[in-house]
Amino acid sequence: MKKGRFLLLVWFLLSHSLFVYSEPPIEVIYWKSWDVQTPSQDEIGSLHDVMVEVQSFFASEMDRHGFGEKTFSFKDIDVVEGRRKLRDYTSHWIIVDESDLIERGLDNQIYVVFFGGSGHIAGNSALSQQLCGNIPEQLIYCNNLIVIPTESRHIILPLLAHEIGHAFSLDHPEQRLIANRVDVMHFPLHVIPGVTMTLKDFALSQKDATFLNEGGRLSVQQDSQDSNQEIEIDTDVNDDGYTDLYDCLIVRSGMSVESSYDTDINNDGVTNILDLMLVKAAAFEAIAAAAPSKPSQRKIITTTWGKLKTR
Ligand SMILES: [Zn+2]
Repeated sequence: MKKGRFLLLVWFLLSHSLFVYSEPPIEVIYWKSWDVQTPSQDEIGSLHDVMVEVQSFFASEMDRHGFGEKTFSFKDIDVVEGRRKLRDYTSHWIIVDESDLIERGLDNQIYVVFFGGSGHIAGNSALSQQLCGNIPEQLIYCNNLIVIPTESRHIILPLLAHEIGHAFSLDHPEQRLIANRVDVMHFPLHVIPGVTMTLKDFALSQKDATFLNEGGRLSVQQDSQDSNQEIEIDTDVNDDGYTDLYDCLIVRSGMSVESSYDTDINNDGVTNILDLMLVKAAAFEAIAAAAPSKPSQRKIITTTWGKLKTR
């Protein structure tokens, strides 16, 4: 047994892929009319940022109301080329009929269509349209189309937040103000001419947040950076170059009395059975690795539950 130090790689699986969500991510489409220029990477990037900001707005507002950072998820933007010229899209139904991606149905599917090169869609500054029959008990599952013209950039954030609210069945409130902010679902939308609106001045009401929480369609989204992390754990507690029975004994005693060694192997603030298990696993692995023909450096990959953000 030659090895000096034993590395234990712990792979935290936090990923929401382990959980089944019935709510599909929002499909995001850039609709390029036949005579509108193909959007640049920067343009698509900035629309992606708009989606992220509105996603964060819902998370922080739900959290403010005590429901945790619940929000929607969404897919990367697909650029779709329409068959008609911009001026011929006189109704959003033409987009629905032309697109293979947008489907009517009862799948809770929301589509956000950024309508390229225009400041309005069929005479509206934006719209939210149910894509199913008007049967009351079906409306909660109804697919929904949101169209946001890309040229209304100064109001695009509150516009999108408002229309996404409608897609989740929120209505216009009577009261306009929530403390010193404007209810994002209020109509007409709060706009200051010539000023680029951020979501700082807008809020989600307690009533709407409660409705969204009870509906269960929003959930805490994991940052991709959080989902996989590798950490290195040193199980050679007495630093004698081996992970063996002595290290196990030191950790075992560290569970009941204060130890001069660092016995908190997983760095969670306490020395307990979890730390002992890590050292034992490493010691057994070291014995297995001690056969002369085997390479001295081996890794153990263990899978463990990480902590979920439950704020
Ligand atoms: Zn509205």
